[in-house]
Amino acid sequence: MKNRKIIQAGFIACAIAMVSFSASAQWASPPVQKPSDPAAIQKALSGGVPAGRWKEGLMFEGIEPMPWLKSAANWFPNTEEVQPNEMRIHFMGTAPMIRPGQMNTSIWVMLGNGDNFAFDLGEGSVSNYVASGIALNEIKKVFITHLHVDHYGALPYVWMFGTWAGGWHERLRVWGPSGATEEYGLNTMIKGMKMMTGWHRDAFSVFPVGKGWDIESNQFDFKDNGGVIYNENGVKITHWERSHAKDGASAYRLDWNDLCFVWTGDGRPSELDEKYAKGCDVYVTELQQEVVEINSGIQGVPPFLARYTIDTHHTPAYASGYLANKVQPRLFMTTHMSYDPYVAEETVAEVREFWKGPYHFGAPDGIVVNVTKDKIWVREGVLPDFPNSKAPQQDFGNGQMIIPMPPTSREKIQNQEIRDQQLDPDLYYPKGYKPELLEDWPAGGDLVVPVEMLPESLMKSMGERWRLKVKNNKILDEQAKKK
Ligand SMILES: [Zn+2]
Ligand SMILES: [Zn+2]
Repeated sequence: MKNRKIIQAGFIACAIAMVSFSASAQWASPPVQKPSDPAAIQKALSGGVPAGRWKEGLMFEGIEPMPWLKSAANWFPNTEEVQPNEMRIHFMGTAPMIRPGQMNTSIWVMLGNGDNFAFDLGEGSVSNYVASGIALNEIKKVFITHLHVDHYGALPYVWMFGTWAGGWHERLRVWGPSGATEEYGLNTMIKGMKMMTGWHRDAFSVFPVGKGWDIESNQFDFKDNGGVIYNENGVKITHWERSHAKDGASAYRLDWNDLCFVWTGDGRPSELDEKYAKGCDVYVTELQQEVVEINSGIQGVPPFLARYTIDTHHTPAYASGYLANKVQPRLFMTTHMSYDPYVAEETVAEVREFWKGPYHFGAPDGIVVNVTKDKIWVREGVLPDFPNSKAPQQDFGNGQMIIPMPPTSREKIQNQEIRDQQLDPDLYYPKGYKPELLEDWPAGGDLVVPVEMLPESLMKSMGERWRLKVKNNKILDEQAKKK
C-alpha cells in the first residue's frame, strides 16, 4: 500500500515535469544542422513515387483534387465556395427504393455564376439538401425527367416549405415532359399538385408569400429530341426522349462555360443517348446489375419481377458501360442503383466490360463532384444527422430585405370560436415570465428593412450566396472581356 503511494507520487512528479517541459518547448524550432546531400534528399522525397516519371496505378489524367478543397477525401457542408469557373454536382438522392442512406433520386448542380438546378426531386432528398447546407428557397429551378413518384415526390414539400422559408421573391419553376395525352403531361401533374396542396397553401398564407405560390410549369414536347428548353445566363439545357415503358420520359443535358453535365433519368439504353450526350464532361445514367436471382434471395421477391422491370424500364450495367464508351465523357457515373457491398465489385466489372475510362458511383447519398475544365474530383460528403437549416438566402442587391405582407390572416381562415377556446397564456407561463405575444403581422404592409439595420449575423447568413454570386460574376465578366 505504502509502496503504491510512492509510485503514484513519482508518476505525478514526472507528469508535472513533462507538462512544464512541453509548455516551454512547444513552439521552439529544432537547432540548425548541416543540410543532407541533395541526392539523398531527392531519393527520400520522391523515391518509390512517380513524381512525373511514370504513370501510377489506374488513375486517369485529370482525375485529381483541386487545390482549394478543404479535404481531398471528404466534403463538409458550408466549408467551400463554388469557384467562378466550377460546376459542383451533389447526389442528394440515389435510389428508387428509399432507405436511410439512399433517398429517392435527385441531383443538385451548382454553377460558378450562382445558378442552381435540381434534376429530379425524389422523396426524402430534401433531408440531404438541408444536411448539405442548401436553403429550401434556393431550390427554384427543378427539371423532372419523368413522373414516377421516386423522381418528384419532394416537389410539394419544397414548394410549401421553400415558400415559408424565405422563397418570397422568385416563383418556383418546373420543367418536365408532355405525355402521350394531356392527362399524362407535367401540366396535369402540377394542376393536381395545386389541388392537393390547397389547404396547405391557404393555411401558410398567414405567413409571407410574395411570389411563393406562383408556379411556372414548363411542359415541353417529349418527342422534340434535342430541343432547347432553357437558355438563360449562359446556361443551356436540352432534352431527348427515353424508352421507359411509357411515353413521356426524358434525359437532360446542361451546358455552361464549356462544361457539360448529363442526367439521363430512367430508361432503356438507346442511340439517342449516344447522340445527345456525346463528349459531355460528366455523363450520369442509371444502372441495374445482372444479379436478379441473388437479389431475389436477398429481397425475398420472385426473380422475374426484377428481370421484367429491368428489361422493360432500365439500363443494365453492361449497357451503361457500352454507352459510356460511345459517349466518351471525362467522368462516367451511375446512380438510381443499389449501393451494397455484395454488389459493388460486380457493378464495376459489368461497367468495365466496355468502359475503361474514369468511373464512379453516384451513390450513396452525399457524393459530391467538383468539375473544372482540367480537373474532376469525387468525394464522399459528410452529412450531419442533425444540421441546422441554412438561413433563407436573400438578394440584398437593392440594399433592403423585403418580407411581403401575408395574403391572409387567421381571422379570415379560422373560426373565432376556435381561437376563443385557446388557453389564457397566464395559465401556463410561470409568474414573472410572459413573452410579448406576436399574434398579428407586425407591419401595415410589406416589412421593409434597410440592410444596414439588419443584425450582422443575419446579413452574413442570409446574404451568403448573393455575395458569392456578385464576387464570382465580377471575375467571370472580367474573364469574358479578356477573351
Ligand atoms: Zn426511378
Ligand atoms: Zn422511372
